Amino acid sequence: MDSKNRMYKKLQSLLLNRKIFYNLNLASYTWLKTGGKADIFFIPEDVNDLRKFLKIINRNLSFYILGAGSNTLFRDLGFDGAVIKLGKKFDYIKFISNKEFRVGAATNCIKLARFLAKNCAAGLEFFSGIPGSIGGAIKMNAGAYGNETSNFLIKVKFLDSKDGSVKEILAKDYIMKYRHTSFPDEYIFLEATFKYIEDKNISENLKRINELILQRESTQPIKEKTSGSTFKNPRHKKAWELIQDSGCKNYKLGNAHLSQIHSNFIINRGGATSNDIEKLGEKIIDKVQKKSGIKLLWEIKIIGRKGKCQND
Ligand SMILES: Cc1cc2nc3c(=O)[nH]c(=O)nc-3n(C[C@H](O)[C@H](O)[C@H](O)COP(=O)(O)OP(=O)(O)OC[C@H]3O[C@@H](n4cnc5c(N)ncnc54)[C@H](O)[C@@H]3O)c2cc1C
Repeated sequence: MDSKNRMYKKLQSLLLNRKIFYNLNLASYTWLKTGGKADIFFIPEDVNDLRKFLKIINRNLSFYILGAGSNTLFRDLGFDGAVIKLGKKFDYIKFISNKEFRVGAATNCIKLARFLAKNCAAGLEFFSGIPGSIGGAIKMNAGAYGNETSNFLIKVKFLDSKDGSVKEILAKDYIMKYRHTSFPDEYIFLEATFKYIEDKNISENLKRINELILQRESTQPIKEKTSGSTFKNPRHKKAWELIQDSGCKNYKLGNAHLSQIHSNFIINRGGATSNDIEKLGEKIIDKVQKKSGIKLLWEIKIIGRKGKCQND
């Protein structure tokens, strides 16, 4: 029996009855609804589960922490390792004072925004249009309408996958800028502490959210299979404008299309492959660079084995 099979056996014996799957198709776990299989897909119920799992794989297997999959493109040939998705116990919100709350890393940002608004907590309305998890929002420093995660994030509790220890850090000690943070990839976020502004006017809080949603619905194809902004905005430029000015408006590849509503959104019209999406993105990068001299950088995380499926 080779070392990989021995590891699988150990996982099965120790994590029996737990949420562990082999060769699981990843498409339904991302917003783009494309991609191949993960060798292992693991849903830890709690920190102990997670620690036990990491001890068994003992750095012999690479892993990817998946939040809500709203900023991830898994390639068609799948992921050679373990995809870890935090389970339901990591989905909670607790007020700890009239200035701060704690939130589990698997909590959905849209759900959080509504919950806060209904509980007299203002400031984080921008989360109402971001369909990711808190873990993903921290890693990406997600933001919208002039606000971003770092403006409210105080502390992050994480599991250090190198030694299994749980630590709490201050967000201000790390770089958090536009769609970039310096948190090491070994950190698995478990919980975060955020500040908020007390505002007892619940109907005003909800009104602000509804206005943001309406604004988004009219400017972004949010009901499509998409990952939001495909590319980061270069300094002092808008990616959508560069794409539009480069004449990419009607670009498509297979069933991957550039949205007609927002030219920085790629959408899967149904049946697109990850390869279609990645190649379409590369075509856009190339065209924009030729036209403007600016190289667009992917905002979407592209994960997995490179290459094309035989039947593509
Ligand atoms: C319709 C639509 C609209 C969008 N609008 C916006 C917007 O306005 N602003 C914006 O910033 N983004 C936007 N996005 C992109 C996306 O929602 C954000 O980037 C979001 O923060 C990603 O969160 P996620 O949980 O889906 O992350 P995933 O795609 O699952 O993962 C993204 C990254 O976060 C890491 N990660 C996730 N959870 C953890 C964890 N617990 N510990 C450590 N690392 C973790 C992953 O490893 C990966 O590196 C939009 C996407 C869509 C589909």
